[in-house]
Amino acid sequence: MRAHEAGALHAEGYRGPAWLHTPVDVNALVPSLWASSVARGDDGVLSVGGIAVTELAREFGTPAYVIDENDFRSRARDFKQTYAEVFDGLCGGADVFYAGKAFLCTEVARWVHDEGLHLDVCSGGELAVAVRAGLPGERIGLHGNNKSVAEIRAALEHGVSRIVVDSFDEIERVAAVASELGVVAPLLIRVTVGVEAHTHEFIATAHEDQKFGLSLSGGHAFEAARRIIANPESLRLLGLHSHIGSQIFDTSGFEVSARRILGLHTQIARELGVELPELDLGGGFGIAYTTEHDPLPPRHLATGMADIIERECRAEGVAVPRISIEPGRAIAGPTTFTLYEVGTVKPVALDGGAERVYVSVDGGMSDNVRTALYDANYSCTLANRASGAAPVLARVVGRHCESGDIVVKDEFLPADVSPGDLVAVPGTGAYCRSLSSQYNHTPRPPVLAVRDGVARVIVRRETIDDLLALDV
Ligand SMILES: *Cc1c(COP(=O)(O)O)cnc(C)c1O
Repeated sequence: MRAHEAGALHAEGYRGPAWLHTPVDVNALVPSLWASSVARGDDGVLSVGGIAVTELAREFGTPAYVIDENDFRSRARDFKQTYAEVFDGLCGGADVFYAGKAFLCTEVARWVHDEGLHLDVCSGGELAVAVRAGLPGERIGLHGNNKSVAEIRAALEHGVSRIVVDSFDEIERVAAVASELGVVAPLLIRVTVGVEAHTHEFIATAHEDQKFGLSLSGGHAFEAARRIIANPESLRLLGLHSHIGSQIFDTSGFEVSARRILGLHTQIARELGVELPELDLGGGFGIAYTTEHDPLPPRHLATGMADIIERECRAEGVAVPRISIEPGRAIAGPTTFTLYEVGTVKPVALDGGAERVYVSVDGGMSDNVRTALYDANYSCTLANRASGAAPVLARVVGRHCESGDIVVKDEFLPADVSPGDLVAVPGTGAYCRSLSSQYNHTPRPPVLAVRDGVARVIVRRETIDDLLALDV
């Protein structure tokens, strides 16, 4: 399918999808794909935070997720400062909740806290990480469409600043736990606004056939607000919440969703007499995985969102509620690359006389399932040396027992790529470790944090003993 879409079957054979250009220099890095400290040294070796990847591989082994700590912190800080500034005049600033599901471990939760962000968790497990990292309840929000009573209790006992409710059942469940604990639970209502954003397109619909949220058009979200407001002994409604999708690159989707959700916000003010103090616009800010994506800096989207909110609130005649957002991927994604060692290299003939080189690495869909799950595109580079060989079209595959076990579908690598070489895949900081598995009883890779010439393990490598430890 892609071969036709690319229309690139010319004389020298298939050249990959249309967005993939034959590199002038196969050793050059595309800066937008990499954490800021990643560079190729004069010796040709890739380094991060001043440490050569060959050194990382020697000391910690492969595969490994390598995260640039300063890059993570600066992306987090950039969101926090930008949104605070842009929304300052409108509603006294904005709160940034890092969506922990993108990638969370105790150390990363500390970074998020240090940089002054809030943290969204969506399970008891993620909440336990936040608590262990020392985050106070007021910095934590709880999400999820089917939270257990135990999770709700843990969240309320820790004093989380908000629980985003997703159903009528849950409103009752939270009310019961809050009443038992003698607290008032702060709530947002997750509203299905009928806007679905994907990359450069968004779809606006009246109805949404999906599991998240309470529908706006069907009146369920308004009814949820009514029920919460009717139970002030146990529940306090802070505001509405909408999350419209992922890999969003412009404000066109927010335009429609903000108008719809502020319409509901206003209806609640008029008919229920409560002007809600908060409004959460969700996450989904896009990043570059390959040269096909060209994300704009946070300020661009922030300014666009602020304009929309200001205009819609003025049109509705309501005060601007305190805004919050929930970026995950845009903070964590670009900070990390996965370092693999090449095990085998095999040319495979394609239709039309073209050839693709299959490069098998020592990880795969167990550490990055996004290619198999979402048909995602990634890029990669030869990391342990520069090469003078011509670029060839390659596919980086894993070591698992599935033909769909692909890490990088299409990329140019130097023709002399060989067993023992290291390959680095950028943009793996979000939804890779967090979606990882032990498929084929493969121990999961460690997460190495690199900063100012020092590398340390922040999540250790799993061992065969870890795998066997669960078998009774
Ligand atoms: C997944 C999710 C996010 C984060 O999405 P990103 O694409 O990683 O920014 C934010 N809010 C909610 C409710 C989510 O489900």
